Amino acid sequence: MSGLKVAITGAGIGGLTAAIALQQRGADVTVYEKAHELRELGAGVAVGGNGARIYESLGLRDAIAAIAGTISTINVKTWRGEPLPGYRPPFPVDQTYPLHRAEFQRLLASALPPGTVRLGRECVNAVEDEDGVRIDFSDGSQAHADVLVGADGIHSTLQSVVGPKTAPVSEGIMAYRGLIPAERLQGVYDPTDWSMWVGPRQSFLIYSVSAGAMLNVVAFVPTDLEVEESWSAPGDVAALAAAYDGWDHPIGEIIGTMDHTFRWGIYDRAPRKTWSTDHITLLGDSAHAVTPHLGQGANQAIEDAITLAVLLEHARPADVPDRLRRYEDLRIDRNRQVREGAREAGALYRTTEFTPPRQAERIVAVYDRLELNTYDAQKVAENSLVTL
Ligand SMILES: Cc1cc2nc3c(=O)[nH]c(=O)nc-3n(C[C@H](O)[C@H](O)[C@H](O)COP(=O)(O)OP(=O)(O)OC[C@H]3O[C@@H](n4cnc5c(N)ncnc54)[C@H](O)[C@@H]3O)c2cc1C
Repeated sequence: MSGLKVAITGAGIGGLTAAIALQQRGADVTVYEKAHELRELGAGVAVGGNGARIYESLGLRDAIAAIAGTISTINVKTWRGEPLPGYRPPFPVDQTYPLHRAEFQRLLASALPPGTVRLGRECVNAVEDEDGVRIDFSDGSQAHADVLVGADGIHSTLQSVVGPKTAPVSEGIMAYRGLIPAERLQGVYDPTDWSMWVGPRQSFLIYSVSAGAMLNVVAFVPTDLEVEESWSAPGDVAALAAAYDGWDHPIGEIIGTMDHTFRWGIYDRAPRKTWSTDHITLLGDSAHAVTPHLGQGANQAIEDAITLAVLLEHARPADVPDRLRRYEDLRIDRNRQVREGAREAGALYRTTEFTPPRQAERIVAVYDRLELNTYDAQKVAENSLVTL
């Protein structure tokens, strides 16, 4: 890359991964983050096979493995505690890294040269000019770049600069989330198990993060309420316990060790027709929010990040509009399929429609169809350049 100047708004998982991949390919990158500090926010987020291969190529896989939770076995059971017949683990345990989001975010930020991430810089607008793009911040300051990447999350500001904003689409469910110190569950639950219980209209997931020190709980329940699309809205542990009354015995004991829980309204967005203008593009949740049932929120942002970095390598400023269109072409359909797959998996986990073996077969088929363990976004992007 001939020193292309790239500005990224948002120091989330997508923005930071894009910054690392672009910087390793010679770009002059700055990340502008509206938060004044990278605070302890969020709970579990998983890097799967498709994301792990990208961190391998960025030289970060070992560092990520060191902060990941441990998975020795994957158990999917019915709400009564019976194994789901015919279910085979759809992802390999040695290529899956369950992480505490804040630790992961800090690790990615520390992989960038000092000064790359500018905190307390909220982007409020962007205007293209003949040399690239001017970025306006809420404090009245401005910056200029050849390319602007909006990695500014589900409530993206740059989305409306690129095209009409897409509205959240509810799945009619919400999740209670929480973190539990692993020592509280000694004798109750093996912290190296990745376990999911599935039942009529509900499911309960638990796995370890923070190098095994914490367990992450995500409990999906139906809701008729407008639940906030928030990572930090407080929930009620007693209501969570009531929702799982009568389920397999460890669940009640696990909930009994929780001090607090958060409510998370489950939404995604209809696919966008376009992500880019000549010098501005979107990445991660700002481009394509998905539901969490395949653990693909972060992984899709990671696939976007490597795709964009490969396409911008060796690009001159004059090549940028074409490269952004190629990026969109490579990513839009992939994200549409993953969004549909995530919705399908969510419905399958909580279905009353199929027998358990049929349910298991269909869940595994979604993973296989989307090649979540094997998809190589870097290679796909590199191959697309062969035709240039
Ligand atoms: C606080 C928080 C907690 C989360 N917790 C979880 C979790 O527990 N489990 C899970 O699966 N997923 C969680 N997610 C979502 C998950 O990180 C994303 O789905 C996925 O990683 C894709 O990330 P992204 O980089 O596209 O967006 P995000 O991770 O949402 O990052 C977007 C970043 O952009 C910043 N930003 C927003 N607007 C502006 C602006 N105008 N100017 C500059 N910066 C801006 C935000 O502060 C944020 O740091 C969380 C996201 C956030 C923001």
